[in-house]
Amino acid sequence: MGTVVTASCEHCKYRQEFHLGGGLGGVSLERYLHLLPEQEREVLLAMKQEEKINRLEIGNRLVCCETCREDGLYQKTVFCITDRGGTKQVFGIRCARCGGELQSYGEAKTLEAQLPCPQCGRQFLTFQRTGLWD
Ligand SMILES: [Zn+2]
Ligand SMILES: [Zn+2]
Repeated sequence: MGTVVTASCEHCKYRQEFHLGGGLGGVSLERYLHLLPEQEREVLLAMKQEEKINRLEIGNRLVCCETCREDGLYQKTVFCITDRGGTKQVFGIRCARCGGELQSYGEAKTLEAQLPCPQCGRQFLTFQRTGLWD
């Protein structure tokens, strides 16, 4: 189960819903692999085949690219892997346009985030939890 978070701007009419968190029940890596760029897909599959993955969490985060800012704010499916040695790696967190690492916010972090409105840039967005999704 995930949370629907609505971002709104008091200055302009920007309003956008984001589906954050889980909801990707019965997580199967293969089912969501197509969401990753090819290079990351190969790395992940190799880890799986070598049985290096100890824990896998797939969920949506709110993301934005601080480098190019081309796509504004959007939701993205992110893969968090903990390997057998306890090291965490995150996949699916690069900007498709410039390749830079995206800023990402999980549900709790989004509700506290101070992000300027991607439309007018004059006001911080207000985030509210407005529902659930699955
Ligand atoms: Zn605005
Ligand atoms: Zn970018």
